Amino acid sequence: MNTKHLLLSSLLCFAVTLPASAQVVPEREVEERTKQLREANAELEQLALRDGLTGLYNHRFFQDAMTQEMSRAARYGNPLSLVFLDVDHFKNYNDLCGHPAGDALLRELGKLLTATQDAPEFRFRGRASDIVSRYGGEEFCIILPMTEGAGATIRADRVREMVALHPFVRREVQPSGVISVSIGVASYPKDALDKAGLIKAADDAMLAAKRAGRNRVMVAPERTAT
Ligand code: GH3
Ligand code: MG
Ligand code: MG
Repeated sequence: MNTKHLLLSSLLCFAVTLPASAQVVPEREVEERTKQLREANAELEQLALRDGLTGLYNHRFFQDAMTQEMSRAARYGNPLSLVFLDVDHFKNYNDLCGHPAGDALLRELGKLLTATQDAPEFRFRGRASDIVSRYGGEEFCIILPMTEGAGATIRADRVREMVALHPFVRREVQPSGVISVSIGVASYPKDALDKAGLIKAADDAMLAAKRAGRNRVMVAPERTAT
């Protein structure tokens, strides 16, 4: 438990153990404490939804967001795409540069994925509706609502290119001389009709990109009619 957690929980404990004499606390003070509690609550909520290392949404949030976005897509008949991304040869980078450097790389990659800067090196400019999460380890997901396969593939390739061009510290230690990612793309309703199927299709496509040589984007093979 870090200092922030301790502060937040002591503030919450204080609130639930207020003595009877608290009733005579001046109104202004009550208001101030209520405000602090509300802020602490909001911060706790954020902590539960965010990944501690990168600050991106975490796996739990990703699963909830997928459930919501899939049902929204089904209800309104909209497409939805999922981009699944895995850092290539990341174990090698950790082994040669150390795990703290690996952590720093993941943080920097997280920033790139959520970048909205209007600069040439950020050809991939996230839309406000994109949901970028850390799936786990060196794996990240981008949910693209209202986006079909072709559009998602173009955007996934921009992500791939942006990462390969980014001057990550000591990228030269990697087998290809750059930090690269392999990406799988799957779309609803083309590749799967439910959440688990869509995640599996994107993951399988990412693994196919690994087998095909890494630093590339692969699209899920079309689902065969059953
Ligand atoms: P591939 O190209 O096949 O994906 O190879 P890889 O080395 O990236 O894949 P592998 O699954 O062999 O290794 C993943 C590595 O990612 C091993 C693990 O230690 C590292 N890793 C996972 N999470 C973290 C993290 O939070 N920080 C650091 N530094 N490393 C992590
Ligand atoms: Mg992996
Ligand atoms: Mg990897």
